[in-house]
Amino acid sequence: MPELPEIQAHAERLDAGFAGATLERFHPLTFTALKTFSPAPETAHGHELVYVGRRGKHLLLDFGEVTFVVHLMQGGRLKPDAKQAAKPRNGQARWRFADGRALLLTEAGTERKAGVWVVDGDPEEQEPLLGLGPEADRIDKATLTQLLRDNPMRLHGFLRDQHLIAGMGRLLANEVCHRARLSPFANTAKLDGDDVNQLLEAMQVCINEGLAFERGLDEMSSSADRPAHVHNRIGETCLECGDVVRAVEYSRYTVAYCASCQTGGKVLADNTTSKFLK
Ligand SMILES: [Zn+2]
Repeated sequence: MPELPEIQAHAERLDAGFAGATLERFHPLTFTALKTFSPAPETAHGHELVYVGRRGKHLLLDFGEVTFVVHLMQGGRLKPDAKQAAKPRNGQARWRFADGRALLLTEAGTERKAGVWVVDGDPEEQEPLLGLGPEADRIDKATLTQLLRDNPMRLHGFLRDQHLIAGMGRLLANEVCHRARLSPFANTAKLDGDDVNQLLEAMQVCINEGLAFERGLDEMSSSADRPAHVHNRIGETCLECGDVVRAVEYSRYTVAYCASCQTGGKVLADNTTSKFLK
């Protein structure tokens, strides 16, 4: 799933290309794409796109009176639509502008989870942004310390919980834990001041690296291409220490970590790791 760096760089790309363009028509292409009934998307017709921004893993298309909040989920993409085909492949919704250009939301796969919310007033006060935690690239030490203390849980899960901190997913959770040299299963309430400093610095470094990579591209990267030390590198050599990158497998995701860097050499319980080791 695209995370903060991918969404942020993409918002900047779309903003540079489309801000100032007047919306002629918003056109949902499936019954599931538009998640809201009111306000009507037509409210934005004839209005200029003020800016394209980001909140957490959502893109925000601000047309003044209303904002379109777009969540790409796993396989969604929002791209300039040169062809404007009547039935575009994987098409979910299209924004057509008065200058003849268009943006197309597509979603690959069959999950149909990507979507568009139309909101008026403050988008922060409404679904799907309501209750999101502070942005991962802006959180300060005091806030992070308090959140860790108030929400005792495994660090990896904490970093992925959008209601605690917004913007990070599986890749950044893996990378941040590794960069901070903290176990993904560390109890958040037991981290000390040094741990929190390492965590905060790791978040900033990993997000900035992702942003620098993503800003150098013309289109959003795919997951396999994103810079990573442990994510997608299970069974390979840790770039920091030469140990092997290990996995703890769950049904929907994999925690990747290096025992030497993060757990004092302790291998976390997982009976599937052996298949990666010769
Ligand atoms: Zn290592």
